[in-house]
Amino acid sequence: MTTLDLHHNIPSKKNENPTPGFRTRAIHAGQDPDPLTGAVIPPIYQTSTFVQPGVETLRAGFEYSRGGNPTRTGLEEQLAKLEAGAAAFSFASGMAAEDALLRAVLKPGATVVSTAETYGGTHRLLTQLYARWGVNTVFVSPSEQDKLAQAVETYRPDVVWLETPSNPLLTVVDISAWAEATHQYGGLLVVDNTFASPALQQPITLGADLVIHSTTKYIGGHSDVLGGAIVVGETSWEDKPLAEVIGFQQFAAGAVAGPQDCFLTSRGLKTLGVRMQQHCENARIIAEWLQDRSEVDQVFYPGLSFHPSYDIARRQMSDFGGIVSFRLNGGEAKARQVAESTETFLLSVSLGGVESLISHPATMTHGSTKGSEQAPPADVVRLSVGIENIEDLLIDLERALRS
Ligand SMILES: *Cc1c(COP(=O)(O)O)cnc(C)c1O
Repeated sequence: MTTLDLHHNIPSKKNENPTPGFRTRAIHAGQDPDPLTGAVIPPIYQTSTFVQPGVETLRAGFEYSRGGNPTRTGLEEQLAKLEAGAAAFSFASGMAAEDALLRAVLKPGATVVSTAETYGGTHRLLTQLYARWGVNTVFVSPSEQDKLAQAVETYRPDVVWLETPSNPLLTVVDISAWAEATHQYGGLLVVDNTFASPALQQPITLGADLVIHSTTKYIGGHSDVLGGAIVVGETSWEDKPLAEVIGFQQFAAGAVAGPQDCFLTSRGLKTLGVRMQQHCENARIIAEWLQDRSEVDQVFYPGLSFHPSYDIARRQMSDFGGIVSFRLNGGEAKARQVAESTETFLLSVSLGGVESLISHPATMTHGSTKGSEQAPPADVVRLSVGIENIEDLLIDLERALRS
């Protein structure tokens, strides 16, 4: 019987380039042509189970698709290579990935220190779900490094959760400094890298232990598939490599991504580098344009030289991202009105797709933080700037601001 060389044990190729660039890795890592037919794009392995040559032998390392499926393995390899990780794990959604990560490393009585400006769903998971299981979460302002040091010393957290750039005000945090503070008492630093994507920053190279993604956003990039991922570095946790700890959680709890979803995410990921370039260019032009508008009170974009995070963003990221937020003169009423007046910018939650979206975070994405210190100002509008022609986006915004 012939053994197919699928993704698990590909023989190393001679003269292999040891350091392919980001866009090359995005296209080729984990995406070898099908060895059976030569299909350039590996097939979607729409199967739940795998036939075995014997009771204790597997043909290509696969047994049952909760434990592993070649389409998922291909995506996981792509993600690990792009984030400079030791391994990656794909989940059915970003929240499923967050839940898997936290349950894998926390126990009742554990403490999480989290940045105050996080995704609304992360806040909800920690305060409404995990609080019931005896996990205590302490929030610290992302712009106050000394508060983090204090919180780490006081609480000795098991996990420090960092989202940078933050949502929706785009505060950028020095990942290396946070890693150092976290590690002082043996905690794990998790970075939610959804907003920057690995095209703009790779937190593991800066000292993070784990990276979280909602691949629903920039990685998938086309608003047509949900997904999440955990990428692990080389760290160990209670004497086991994190890859083993997270791999076991993924298999045992089972919130895995299906093969069709993995295929769509893989396909999107191949163009992440070029899409991100255009997202960043359009966002920078819009941020600068908004600054000069009388209707606008304040623009949040880390690429603007007066943004409080400009210096750290310049050091840490290769570009400033595709999200722009701004406050309106005229308060919440005007913010809601602008959000409801654009046409090319679609009024919608989510972000990171090729199409431009507009949202009102206080009532839409951050509803679960209402009334808390973590609630964003009600006069803020957030744009996920797409890759349409910039002229059309500016015309649309101009019309909405004047409305
Ligand atoms: C969307 C998002 C999530 C949650 O991901 P889902 O795929 O919606 O479950 C987590 N973090 C950030 C920063 C997000 O934008």
